[in-house]
Amino acid sequence: MSDAEGSMRPSPKALPFHNEPLADFSRKELRAAMQLALDDVASQFGIEAPLIIDGKAIDTRKQLASHNPSKKSQVVGTASCATPEQAEKAIEAARRAARSWGRVPHERRVEHMELLAAEMRNRRFELAAWIVYECGKPWSEADGDVCEAIDFCMFYAMQMRELSIPVHCDLPGEENRFSYRPRGVAVVIAPWNFPLAILTGMVAAALVAGNTVVMKPAEQSSIIASKLMEIAREAGIPDGVLNFLPGIGEEIGPTLVESPDVDIVVFTGSRPVGLAINKAAAETSPLQTSVKRVIAEMGGKNAIIVDEDANLDEAVQGVIGSAFGFSGQKCSACSRVFVLAPCYDPFLERLASATASLKIGPALDPATSLGPVIDLAAKQRIEDYIALGKEESRLVYGGDVGPLEKEGFFVAPHIFADVDPQSRLSQNEIFGPVVAVIKVSSIDQAFEWANATEYALTAGLYSRSPRTIDRARKELEAGNIYINRPITGAMVNRHPFGGYKMSGIGSKAGGRDYLLQFLIPVTVTENTLRRGFAPPSEDETET
Ligand code: NAD
Repeated sequence: MSDAEGSMRPSPKALPFHNEPLADFSRKELRAAMQLALDDVASQFGIEAPLIIDGKAIDTRKQLASHNPSKKSQVVGTASCATPEQAEKAIEAARRAARSWGRVPHERRVEHMELLAAEMRNRRFELAAWIVYECGKPWSEADGDVCEAIDFCMFYAMQMRELSIPVHCDLPGEENRFSYRPRGVAVVIAPWNFPLAILTGMVAAALVAGNTVVMKPAEQSSIIASKLMEIAREAGIPDGVLNFLPGIGEEIGPTLVESPDVDIVVFTGSRPVGLAINKAAAETSPLQTSVKRVIAEMGGKNAIIVDEDANLDEAVQGVIGSAFGFSGQKCSACSRVFVLAPCYDPFLERLASATASLKIGPALDPATSLGPVIDLAAKQRIEDYIALGKEESRLVYGGDVGPLEKEGFFVAPHIFADVDPQSRLSQNEIFGPVVAVIKVSSIDQAFEWANATEYALTAGLYSRSPRTIDRARKELEAGNIYINRPITGAMVNRHPFGGYKMSGIGSKAGGRDYLLQFLIPVTVTENTLRRGFAPPSEDETET
């Protein structure tokens, strides 16, 4: 490429990235390893997780107790509960550490992320066991959570290596260099439903890009988050660079989001909280030195369309996996199914009988396909929607949890048919094992109604028609569109994840644009004519 044309960043190639393989629990030795980890973690129940600010452990008088959702009498551990003053202290610590961390060569930050990933790999069953107990995730889902956390560390490390190569666009007498700098202090506010993966993803992206972090996990998953903090310290992340701040969102959230010393707010959670954060972060204080960047990944009301020529066996399995996996507590979960009239009745019949075969049980039991929901508030909210469904539509399947009712927060899967596409059941995110099935007279109506929601996170189609598949690619309004497969289970790099409309204002997690949100692009232009030509540049990097 000639100097006159300038040099450009090469177009992205297939990257040498491999997803962490999921555990195959049909293998006896892996089942035994997981069981050993579960026993070992159970022997640690009652552990305490202090705040960690500037490397110092701080116990608070107020505590957050984490109960096992499968067995509510069991306290998995207790975490300290930060006050707004402690939130300020954590931000101050992160601010103090920002300058030196931002100047650490990117290679070292990348190594820290690789060490984090390596340590998670060493402890994968132990981490999965904490997830089983604290969040009620069945074995394979808990294992997937750990694998995704490892993937995020490795993927963002790889991306940072690429982004650290400055782009030159030089002309005779003019040298131009485009590179990135860290933004500063990031506040990470996470949900409980991917207690390790999502938290790790947001933290790793911020750290590897050279920002310091105040990590605020969800109340329900503070113990797992404390394990990430532990691993980060073992991986040598310096004091103050990552601060651990468990606490109640409504109490410390405003301090974190409104602080003039915070440059990025990275949030994943519900729409009301995400929108409130976006609004609060837009208020600019005279003490502020940068306009805050908000990354907010929010909820979904995701649809699957079942075309009249679809393979119904596949469609039924896909809907069941997408709607009831982790008891419907995934932002990507299917909660509406639009079925073409000719196959509506057979589809419903098969869906109901396949759902009846799901085994509801404690997450600890490897045979469980449907574990508990996260807590009492979630159970009550879901049961209110079930009561509404019974009033407004036709109940096709509604199981019973039997004696589990007394043990934990269990809700049986529910299928409603003939649901009004504008009803609350069809429009509100329920975040539980409840699915609304709706008959449509044409594929046009299916697309129209599937898109008739404020959200745009995931969507799917089961069809054998190339024309309909092509329409789905273009017309379905969702950040992640899946064809002839379940709509959950996005994998880092392969399926960069995130929505639009009211589902999100960030760029896709696990995708190549994600890290850019944590960086400031800077162009340096030097007139080299005045001094004659400079010797070849040494390619020094800023990030
Ligand atoms: P939530 O919004 O209740 O809580 C998320 C986090 O926000 C928690 O850490 C909470 O303590 C904190 N928070 C609460 N009030 C706050 C406030 N006023 N200021 C600052 N922080 C505050 O969500 P949740 O119940 O933990 O998670 C479930 C939700 O997350 C669902 O809506 C789901 O769709 C969504 N989610 C989205 C994605 C995605 O990638 N789009 C992924 C996972 C979950």
